[in-house]
Amino acid sequence: MSAPKLRKRFWETVPLEKMSHEEWEALCDGCGKCCLNKLEDEETGDVALTNVACRLLDDSTCRCAQYPIRHQFVPECIVLKPQNMEHNLYWMPETCAYKLLWNGEKLHKWHPLISGDPDSVHLAGISMRGRTVPEFEVSEEDWEDYIIEEPS
Ligand code: SF4
Ligand code: SF4
Repeated sequence: MSAPKLRKRFWETVPLEKMSHEEWEALCDGCGKCCLNKLEDEETGDVALTNVACRLLDDSTCRCAQYPIRHQFVPECIVLKPQNMEHNLYWMPETCAYKLLWNGEKLHKWHPLISGDPDSVHLAGISMRGRTVPEFEVSEEDWEDYIIEEPS
């Protein structure tokens, strides 16, 4: 008999680097916030979030429309893994499950793994569902006009 793909409450007991691929993927709450374009101040390093979304983000589901083959279209899309978490923390959303666990914090009660409902992240107002504009509709020089506060 093979081991179950998702161990019971694995996010509380299994370190990030020991999670199975399925457990790692299940950690994503589907908020869509990491798929938004950011503006980085070269001098201060400050990162501003915009609601201009990657061209592959489906605004109605808040999921990547081509996740398994996304690098064919967006080669720069970062594949998050325990080995590169530290390097990426500075731009990651505050509510991101990977960031929370990396920082030793708990998942929020609206996280689908806690609530058992994939919609809870949307119902709690955390996600970007219905709130983005696609990057092909906004010229990069205008992104400043689309800066937002992170929904949290
Ligand atoms: S910010 Fe984190 S939890 Fe939200 S969609 Fe991106 S990877 Fe998933
Ligand atoms: S390619 Fe997909 S996963 Fe990557 S940023 Fe775009 S929408 Fe998000």
